Amino acid sequence: MGEGRSLYDYRFFARRYAQLRRTFFLSQSLLHSDSSITEVSRYRLVLLNDRRRTVQHNLGLLNSYLSNVCHMCKGSCCLDSYDHFMATDYWLRRYSDSRLDSFGTEDKKIMSNCQIFFDRIHRLVFSNDNPFKRDGNGCQFLGAEGCILDAPDRSIRCLAFTCRKLRESMTVEQKKHYAVLIKNLYSISHEVLDILKKEAKVHSLYGEFSLIITL
Ligand code: SF4
Ligand code: SF4
Repeated sequence: MGEGRSLYDYRFFARRYAQLRRTFFLSQSLLHSDSSITEVSRYRLVLLNDRRRTVQHNLGLLNSYLSNVCHMCKGSCCLDSYDHFMATDYWLRRYSDSRLDSFGTEDKKIMSNCQIFFDRIHRLVFSNDNPFKRDGNGCQFLGAEGCILDAPDRSIRCLAFTCRKLRESMTVEQKKHYAVLIKNLYSISHEVLDILKKEAKVHSLYGEFSLIITL
């Protein structure tokens, strides 16, 4: 468990992160950004956003205790032209004073796990582009010392991502604490998905099986 690549890491970090991304994909196309929603859903989103901010704040704090490993690294996982803000982030913040303008530009359409796999193979075999290349422009929020945003203002995805180096820097207790906080982000994102399904009048089981089989 103290390693960065144990079964524990797979279960509570890698797989959880994959499931989290799946909830983002599933939420992405359910409602237009200018759709109006019921008062009840709006109230639930406000409460969930408060919860999200607290969890992200605690994750930021915990991260800063980890010998500043991310600070020293200066955000090498932020080097592409990312826009990690998804519909989940958008709807959570829609009724707050840190509202987002849009759903973000990346991963707008829902892709199944198989589609993602074959898309990578296709780009690897048939495209001249290196599918793993980094464009090096960097996220617009990446400063000289790392991310310039406070933890609660970042996207959920930014906080939920951990690399092996970061996990290796954690004690067993820190890792457990980190895993619980990421689980909380997953639970919040799943609740947002449920709200959006209800508002879009989509069956409540929509996407649930794909979440179970996400590896
Ligand atoms: S998560 Fe890993 S790659 Fe990203 S900033 Fe932290 S140490 Fe660097
Ligand atoms: S918002 Fe911050 S943490 Fe997220 S990708 Fe950009 S620089 Fe990195």
